[in-house]
Amino acid sequence: MPDQTKIDELKANLRGRLIAKGDDSYDESRKVYNGMINKHPALIVYCVDVADVITCVNFGRENKMLTAIRGGGHNGGGLGICDDGLVIDLSNIKYTRVDPKNKTVRAGGGCVWSDVDHATHAFGMATPSGIIGSTGVGGLTLGGGIGHLTRHCGLAIDNLLEADLVLADGSFVTASEKENPDLFWAIRGGGGNFGIITSFLFRLHPISMVYGGPVLYELGETKKVMQWYRKFILDAPNELNGFFAFLTVPPGPPFPEHLHGKKLCGIVWAYTGDMGNAEKVFKPIRDFLKPALDFAGPMPHPVIQGMFDALFVPGMQWYWRADFVKEISDKAIDAHIEFADKMPPGFSTMHLYPINGAAAKVGKNDTPWAYRDAVWAQVMVGVDPDPANKEVITKWTKEYFDALHPFSAGGAYVNFMMDEGEDRIKATYKDNYERLSKIKKKYDPNNFFKVNQNIKPAA
Ligand SMILES: Cc1cc2nc3c(=O)[nH]c(=O)nc-3n(C[C@H](O)[C@H](O)[C@H](O)COP(=O)(O)OP(=O)(O)OC[C@H]3O[C@@H](n4cnc5c(N)ncnc54)[C@H](O)[C@@H]3O)c2cc1C
Repeated sequence: MPDQTKIDELKANLRGRLIAKGDDSYDESRKVYNGMINKHPALIVYCVDVADVITCVNFGRENKMLTAIRGGGHNGGGLGICDDGLVIDLSNIKYTRVDPKNKTVRAGGGCVWSDVDHATHAFGMATPSGIIGSTGVGGLTLGGGIGHLTRHCGLAIDNLLEADLVLADGSFVTASEKENPDLFWAIRGGGGNFGIITSFLFRLHPISMVYGGPVLYELGETKKVMQWYRKFILDAPNELNGFFAFLTVPPGPPFPEHLHGKKLCGIVWAYTGDMGNAEKVFKPIRDFLKPALDFAGPMPHPVIQGMFDALFVPGMQWYWRADFVKEISDKAIDAHIEFADKMPPGFSTMHLYPINGAAAKVGKNDTPWAYRDAVWAQVMVGVDPDPANKEVITKWTKEYFDALHPFSAGGAYVNFMMDEGEDRIKATYKDNYERLSKIKKKYDPNNFFKVNQNIKPAA
């Protein structure tokens, strides 16, 4: 830990706030989205600009401090914070600029997705992100980015055009297809391993309205629904996205009272093609089986993006496990049914996000995201507001994962992983790991950025 003179010097060189242990707002400042994470950093800096980020990186490196990067703070494993070290918080580097002529949006490194959706919707456009507006642009993009627009427009990384970074040596660079292309390749899936992104530039698509929302069925219909869905999503038009979910109906409006607290299965749809065709596209969905609840309809893109934000408020307990999946066999469905029955009440869930369609058109070595041939990113998540239920949700998630893992493709989406060790990271990047490791050596030879799904610098 650097002495007080050095800390005072750091403070004097910053425009943003510096929070240290003992300060009034320390406990508030060390919170992240997952209430299960309880880390105590020595210093937290709320950077306001690139100069602050450079100052912090140099300070962390010169004083040999473990240094974490916090974007939206949503990481399940708490990789936006660390014990005893320095946290470089980007949440005040928040700006957006839409360029309607070139159909791009620039977003500050600390934006969350609702900031970007708000800005782009005013121009009748959108870029692929996730399904919760409060998730950080930084972490979600650098890991890949799966959401409602995946099948239509690809992953978030497939729409990243350029990024500004502060590297481990404190230098500032831009990465794109033309400038530092090796670095640009690495950040499109390699996480926060290579530097701190202070600005992202994304491609925009003419998407303003979405016809979508959850269509849910009785849990007893799971087998029928999964067997239908596993085939339907392979042949569905790319403009139609739909992730499968188990969930418990929240006990309040707009949900009908007879379903409150009931476990259901279903699909959260998002059709982003011609709105005039939407009813036709939904006809086979509506003809296949009568749902218990049909919430699908037309809505502005930011509405579907924020649909679940009020449910999943910050501070709950979260435990995650994930895999990539190429096919859903009948045996896998039986295991899903067993664990849906055992799903803890409240907020716990299981999602199967389709990653076929446009995302599958990108080659497996074109970005570090190696599982372009998988059809789903599967994630089981134990969620509960009460810390007393931490063990219950963790046990359910682990056992569910263990039962389904044999049916998986091997690795997992890095953004759905907790701290699962190096082998799991290697399994996830497959033959891209070695290239990532070489690029890590070039840009961060001493592994300064190690609070992440870490890629070790090549020997
Ligand atoms: C409620 C919820 C919903 C989610 N939904 C989706 C979804 O729909 N689709 C999806 O793909 N993922 C989803 N995720 C997973 C999400 O992508 C990861 O948790 C991601 O790490 C969150 O990014 P963050 O910036 O909010 O996190 P943080 O905890 O702030 O950061 C996580 C990691 O990202 C890196 N990082 C963040 N910002 C930067 C930056 N500017 N520069 C360099 N490194 C940076 C850091 O290395 C850090 O280790 C969801 C997570 C939650 C909790």
